[in-house]
Parts: sequence; structure tokens; C-alpha cells
Amino acid sequence: MCVCGGTCCIVGGGPAGMMLGYLLARAGIEVLVLEKHADFLRDFRGDTVHPSTLETMHELGVLEGFLKRPHQEVTHVRASIGGEPILLGNMSYLRTRCRFMALMPQWDFLDFLSEQGHRYPTFHVRMRTEVTGLIEENGRIMGIRGNTPSGSIEVRASLVVGADGRNSVVRDCSGLTIEDLGAPTDAFWMRLSKHPDDPQLFVVADGGKLLAMLDRGDYWQCGFPILKGSAKEVQRKSIEAFRAGIVGVAPFLQDRITELRDWNDLKLLTVKVNRLRQWYRPGLLCIGDAAHAMSPVGGIGINLAIQDAVAAANILAGPLREGTVSIGDLAKIQRRRAFPTRITQRLQEVLRKQVGRDVGKSRTARPPWPLRLLERTTLPCRIRTRFVGVGIRPEHVKTPDVYT
Ligand SMILES: Cc1cc2nc3c(=O)[nH]c(=O)nc-3n(C[C@H](O)[C@H](O)[C@H](O)COP(=O)(O)OP(=O)(O)OC[C@H]3O[C@@H](n4cnc5c(N)ncnc54)[C@H](O)[C@@H]3O)c2cc1C
Repeated sequence: MCVCGGTCCIVGGGPAGMMLGYLLARAGIEVLVLEKHADFLRDFRGDTVHPSTLETMHELGVLEGFLKRPHQEVTHVRASIGGEPILLGNMSYLRTRCRFMALMPQWDFLDFLSEQGHRYPTFHVRMRTEVTGLIEENGRIMGIRGNTPSGSIEVRASLVVGADGRNSVVRDCSGLTIEDLGAPTDAFWMRLSKHPDDPQLFVVADGGKLLAMLDRGDYWQCGFPILKGSAKEVQRKSIEAFRAGIVGVAPFLQDRITELRDWNDLKLLTVKVNRLRQWYRPGLLCIGDAAHAMSPVGGIGINLAIQDAVAAANILAGPLREGTVSIGDLAKIQRRRAFPTRITQRLQEVLRKQVGRDVGKSRTARPPWPLRLLERTTLPCRIRTRFVGVGIRPEHVKTPDVYT
């Protein structure tokens, strides 16, 4: 089956793809978003919607509706490291409209973006459509090939955008060169019920172990980093030993740790950190994790993906409308977003070293004394808050809503 994807075909209905689709459709451009899954319901997706993304929602005039969806608002991001309480972030320092981070399951966030996009007649989404290859003619990408439940599909478009995440098929088929920056950890992901008197901590680190905890109302979504490639070794030991590791770092979880009945209650997530040398080719652009896979540190990958989408829409809306997207337009997007990406990946690594440097080792992760002394001032907290909550070079929506 051959489908005309209109002007822009976006592969991947994650934060980057859905936001770009919504912005372009709002600007009157024909967009087709292809998503391989049937829905957005996957547990491994991050939940943190930072003030920069909330600012984007405000600029789009949909913030109020967004905040009506069930979510938790977090102003203070607290951690306990080697028994030492540390305020990792205090959003009230920010000068943004929302001085908090919203914790919302990502399927709700993506449903919301999809709902907003569907207000525009030029916004189209095809679920259960898995892209498997690119159509190339005379050195230019002309469209994609894929599979749907009713058979194979070809979509032709003036521009293909790879927003299909850190295992991007579009990127792999494009021949673009990726630079692997290496990630020292993978993570086990699990849920444990939440009790009203639990400490409100995002990170607990002790005894060489670390637990990241996302508040999902009645349960904690927990991430437990392990040394890269060591999952099989961890699983060879008993689930009891694994449970003991969790309780060792967060003793208040003792009374519910048996909710982890066996290894099926845990998901292994392999962490990748990389970036493309060049994000584009004639007829093709990669954004979000497809262009630069982000580590989970700071929970900023979603927001960076959103910022990419806003920048791409700002630069591409005009040329797409006129049917004249040049290689120069695509290069402009990389020039705008490569710097924040590089700095963010670098700073994530610094934060990882500060907070999780001893993961997998046997000693207690207590910060060194100069760091503890500095933490008594608000400076490190202000810097971290700005970096995580707003990011480097925040983008602003410049595309119009052509229907108002
Ligand atoms: C363990 C872990 C925890 C994390 N936690 C957080 C967090 O709490 N907060 C945060 O901000 N970031 C977090 N991140 C990073 C974050 O998940 C990513 O940076 C972010 O999701 C990138 O968005 P994206 O839209 O580029 O890609 P993705 O969110 O990966 O979306 C890509 C989409 O493309 C679809 N797709 C893939 N292949 C195809 C195909 N061939 N055809 C069609 N569709 C396809 C996928 O199904 C998916 O819907 C975490 C990362 C890891 C590894």
C-alpha cells in the first residue's frame, strides 16, 4: 500500500514526534506521525515534565488543560546520599510560569499532545505502524517503508523526521554516523507501593547502591542502576539477594519488598548515551533521542526532546509550507540544538559522578567534604535547578496557530 504522507512524515510518537506533529499541524502543515505501538502505555517511559516544557504548554495556550490531568507537582527535589540529606533542586528559584515539575505518566502526556494535535485537520497519526526502511532516490530520502497489521506500507513525504528514540531505525537506515559516548550503567525498573508516611525522596544512595524514585501517586516507579552488562550476573543470584540490595539502600521499603515476586516484576533498561555527528541528510532530519540518546540522569531527556521539536518547528514551518526545505534549513536545526545537547550530556555525566559515582562498588557513597560544605550555600542547588528545570538555550514557540 502506498500512502502520501503529505508534507512531513514523522517516525515515532514519543515526546519529540508528537510535539513536532502538533506544532506543524497547528501551523497548517500536513503531518503524518507513525507509531509502532498500539498505544502509549509503557511503564519504562519517564514521567518528569519540567518547567521548560510547562512553559511551552503555556505558550501554546494549553497549560491550564494540561494541569487538569492527574499529576503531582514537585517543587523540592530531595535526595539522601550516604545518609546526608541533599536538596538536589528547588524549583521555586526559577523565574518560569510554573515553579514546579509535574510528575505525570508519560502515556497521559502523549495522549494530551495527541488530543491537541487532533484539533487540527492536518494532523494524522497511524498507530501500529512500524517503520523498517527508508525510500531513497538520487541521494535524497523520499519516504519510508513499514509494516502495519494489514500489510506493508510506503509513505512518501517532502521531509521524513526520525523521532523514533534511542534505538532509531530511521537513523540506522540513514547511514548517518553516530558517536557512542558510553554509559557505565543499565537499570532495573520496578514498581513498589507508596505509603503516606514514606519520605519524599527522588534519590536514595548508600552502601554503593542507588535508587531513583518517581512518585506516581499510589506507587513508586523505581530505577535501580547496575553496572553495564552485569544484569545476567545479578539475576544469577536470587531475587531475595536483589530485594536485600533495595532494602539496604532504602530501609523504609522493607514492608513491601516482596511485591517483587520474581524477575518478571522487573524490567531491564539498557542505557545508551550517544549523538549523531550530523543530524540530517537531504529529505531527512533526526531529533530527540534518535539524534542524541540521553541518560536518565536528571530526568531531562523528555524535555530536551520537546525543545528539539519546538526548534525544528520554528525553523521548518515556513519552508515546509512553501515546499522548499533546504539542507541549510536542516543544518540550522542542528546548529541550534547541538550545543545544548553536548552541554546537557556533559553535565548529566558530572551529576552522575556526583550522585551515583559508587554504583556497584561496596563503599558508602558519601559526598566529599568540600562538596558537603558547598551544599550549605544555595549555589549548587540553584545551578542544578536551572540546568534540570529549564535547560540550556530554552526554546520558545514561534509558529502560529493558523486556525485562530
Ligand atoms: C531508564 C531510563 C529512564 C528515563 N527516565 C526519564 C525521566 O524520568 N524523565 C525524562 O525526561 N527522561 C527520562 N529518560 C530519557 C527519555 O526517556 C528520553 O530522552 C525521551 O523519551 C526521548 O524522547 P523521544 O521522543 O526522542 O524518544 P522516545 O520517547 O523513545 O519515543 C520514540 C517513539 O518512537 C516509537 N518507535 C520506535 N521505533 C519505531 C519504528 N521503527 N517505527 C515507528 N515507531 C517507532 C517508539 O515506540 C516511541 O513511542 C530516561 C531514559 C532511560 C533509559
